[in-house]
Amino acid sequence: MAAGESPVLKGQPGVTRAALFACCPRCGARTLWGGPATFTSSCSACGQDFAAHEPKGRSLFLVVLPVTALLVLAAVRLDDLLRSPLWLQAAVWTALVPAVMIGALRFAKAAVLISALRKKDDE
Ligand SMILES: [Zn+2]
Repeated sequence: MAAGESPVLKGQPGVTRAALFACCPRCGARTLWGGPATFTSSCSACGQDFAAHEPKGRSLFLVVLPVTALLVLAAVRLDDLLRSPLWLQAAVWTALVPAVMIGALRFAKAAVLISALRKKDDE
């Protein structure tokens, strides 16, 4: 077995599948997300506890602040390039900002969960 692969998590979904398709990192069932970027308390298929590994509070600023800065820079740059009307900018960014933020949080939380489970299995 290669380094970093645990016997339980080997062959199970990675960060991308967990973030996009809500696949449980242990069994692959689609049970990970209970809200837009919130874990369910546990997997209904295998019983894996998710709530204990959910990052909360200030630790999420490491994800939210850089993504916010990138979105602001993208909005300014796009406005400079296209000179689109304000109503169009408002419509685009109202739809885009929540989607990007939820996606970034899902990827970060899935990565933290999988890392914690692998570390736990290695012990
Ligand atoms: Zn499961």
